[in-house]
Amino acid sequence: MSNYKSGLDYAKSQDQNDELAPYRDQFHIPKDKDGNEWIYMTGNSLGLQPKSTKSYINQELEDWANLGVEGHTEAKNPWLPYHEFLTESMAKVVGAKPIEVIVMNTLTANLHFMMVSFYQPTKSRYKIVIEADAFPSDKYAVESQLRHHGYDDKDGLILWKARAGEELARYEDLEAIMESQGDEIALIMIGGVNYYTGQYFDLKRITELGHKHGCIVGFDCAHGAGNVELNLHDSGADFAVWCTYKYLNSGPGSLAGCFVHERHAHNKDLNRFTGWWSHNKQTRFNMRHEFDVLPGAEGWQLSNPPILSMAAIKASLDIFNEVGMKKLNEKSRSLTGYFEFLLKQLGEDVIKIITPIDPNERGCQLSIQVLNADKILHDKLTEAGVISDWREPDVIRCAPVPLYNTYQDVYHMVEKLKVILNG
Ligand SMILES: *Cc1c(COP(=O)(O)O)cnc(C)c1O
Repeated sequence: MSNYKSGLDYAKSQDQNDELAPYRDQFHIPKDKDGNEWIYMTGNSLGLQPKSTKSYINQELEDWANLGVEGHTEAKNPWLPYHEFLTESMAKVVGAKPIEVIVMNTLTANLHFMMVSFYQPTKSRYKIVIEADAFPSDKYAVESQLRHHGYDDKDGLILWKARAGEELARYEDLEAIMESQGDEIALIMIGGVNYYTGQYFDLKRITELGHKHGCIVGFDCAHGAGNVELNLHDSGADFAVWCTYKYLNSGPGSLAGCFVHERHAHNKDLNRFTGWWSHNKQTRFNMRHEFDVLPGAEGWQLSNPPILSMAAIKASLDIFNEVGMKKLNEKSRSLTGYFEFLLKQLGEDVIKIITPIDPNERGCQLSIQVLNADKILHDKLTEAGVISDWREPDVIRCAPVPLYNTYQDVYHMVEKLKVILNG
């Protein structure tokens, strides 16, 4: 992408020619106390609120006020099947078939429920592989699963590490782990897009490698869903989980997503934790039937879901559905490529981008290492109206989100960084 240009005029003309630019207006952009819009670069942490969210939630509040329990069947969007209204759009976002996708619970909870079914250790095959820089919650979750099954978590956990002096994990090192210990490994569980480096792993390659060695393969796609085209079905992964409050803009702590590959859809023998919402819809309310599990990912639901949170997810998915991941991905590549172009002009001796340079190996986030930086740099950026994310010891994570960030956001962010670095 060598046709990027420096200068504010270029950013302005890019915004003018951007087909997705009008979508920014569909979001609330937070402002500082003087009324200036923030340069919001943390959609990877908490996505912004669509302006439509309020009316989606209000609809359910009104139906609850006016209908009480009758809302389960009589609400404009009846609550009994409400989760079904999300399935198709969510499946499109993650590249799955509707039968493979369900919105339920929260992210780490879903990870545990998936491991209840898909982590079935035996005496000789019980180890779990995760990436060394995995999100802490994922690491804690897999460690506790090891302990739950009576294994030592130090012995049972294999870390796929970047080499000394490098930031990114290499596939040949995962292959080496599989060659040497493959028959002791029960599960490979990787963050599909690493939260720290922004590295987007080749899900299909990892899945094929794992399956070749007889392992189950699952991904935590919290930083992938709504950010990259995940193609979960084609990846062949056994399961995946993700949250909806990052790139999916569904509000703090909102419900999470879960993918179970079609090949497991009708396997009633899979061990699982169940509840009445995993049970056959036709006989669910007879209450006295033997348990009869639903096919597909729906068969992992436990409870009747929180409709208010689902309404926020529906508001967001309706936007995603309208735009489509393909167009989002096109803008994302262009916007993040521009960001990279401008950052490099600050001098590669001062700034090091640890996120992969290849657009196929990243989403919109760039993780920026700044020479001799400490948290003061981040605080100064915040003071200047740039909302970014600081990770010790010296990394700023910034995610220009194609739905609501602009080329001018990116331009001004780098200009402000330049002023701070020179000051
Ligand atoms: C954001 C994130 C989490 C957070 O988990 P919650 O259960 O939603 O609190 C876990 N894992 C990854 C990889 C994440 O990016």
